[in-house]
Amino acid sequence: MKNEEIIDVHYGEITLKGKNFKRFENILIKSILTRIKTELGIDLKTQKEMKRLIISNFGEENKNQRIVKGLSKVFGISWIGTGYSCNATIKDVVNLITKHADKKKVYRIEARRIDKTYPKNSSEIGYEISKELIGNGFEPDYKSKEIIYIEWFKNHVNIILKKYAGLGGLPSGASGRVVSLLSGGIDSPVSTWLCMKRGCTPSFLHVFIGDIDDVKKSKIVDIRRKLREYTSKPIDLYLADGSKIYEIKDKIPPRYRTVLFRRFMFLLAQALANDLNAEGIITGDNIAQVASQTLTNLHATTYGMDIPIFRPLLTYDKEEIINLAKKIDTFETSIKKYNDPCMAGAKGMTTTAKQEIVKRIEKEIGLNEIVENVLKGIRRI
Ligand code: ATP
Ligand code: MG
Repeated sequence: MKNEEIIDVHYGEITLKGKNFKRFENILIKSILTRIKTELGIDLKTQKEMKRLIISNFGEENKNQRIVKGLSKVFGISWIGTGYSCNATIKDVVNLITKHADKKKVYRIEARRIDKTYPKNSSEIGYEISKELIGNGFEPDYKSKEIIYIEWFKNHVNIILKKYAGLGGLPSGASGRVVSLLSGGIDSPVSTWLCMKRGCTPSFLHVFIGDIDDVKKSKIVDIRRKLREYTSKPIDLYLADGSKIYEIKDKIPPRYRTVLFRRFMFLLAQALANDLNAEGIITGDNIAQVASQTLTNLHATTYGMDIPIFRPLLTYDKEEIINLAKKIDTFETSIKKYNDPCMAGAKGMTTTAKQEIVKRIEKEIGLNEIVENVLKGIRRI
């Protein structure tokens, strides 16, 4: 076997999937191949190997860094290693390390015997390689945090010189479709990302008031583009005109306007989810973050609905949400100027909305008909 440069992709949680593992693995590989092909224009040569994927034959050296960067946004990967593959002999391994590792660094050699028929166990392999490396001018130290990983297979060995963290989670598309209520704030892109991390395929629903052409040029579209980088599939964005309810806001007691507007959005999301065969609604709601999200108001907003509502950020502190928004690179876009629709009355809103009152207003203004009408005029972009 020739010495070959490789990228070693270690799967995340899908390795625990028992009988379903193969199905998840196929979804993950497809999303890896699609991503690298569409983003980098590279057709990868891959090989499945004991619950990991080996990528080889990618040509020039700097291509591997581009591939690693591309893979760092693919859900379902625990970590990515770059290194080499060679024959299963100590001599070949030592030669490769000597050629490619940095003598100025102090390494720890961490060997794993994957092929249990090989007569030496993992620590013996590690010891022997370290001993040979000393003869070649290295100074290995078992306490070092700079690690070279050795994976000993039957006919070859993978040497990982550098390890990069993956995103974890489940591969994109492994779970069902969900409708995500997307606002112009910081929270909803983060909550969507968290559900995407669990394999959900989102369709965005944004409610606007004003000119749809302004929305099409706004950060709402930019957020969709940012999250698109984390999936191999397109993300639909549905734009719904909320002016019908805004126009009749005087019929709603000021302290109930926000709750009713939010209820309108949830009912609309439910209707859209039915049309799309989606299995849930995602929101960026968070307990007591603002008056509309007290426990009582969260319930008054969604009582009686018969679709699961997922609120991944329910228990996060704002600071935690902001940190995650920065990590996934939606923060800078989310803080751009944009006029989200707002119906709050001058005296603010109740923090303890009564279901009976919400129900009564809902009937009075014909909320269900409004939802039906708005759904008809919804635009997908
Ligand atoms: P932030 O709290 O950072 O301002 P947010 O996105 O959480 O942003 P909130 O006003 O707290 O905004 O709204 C709570 C949730 O309601 C949002 O996370 C989102 O899921 C949904 N939402 C709010 N406004 C809209 C809108 N115009 N269109 C669709 N969904 C919306
Ligand atoms: Mg919020």
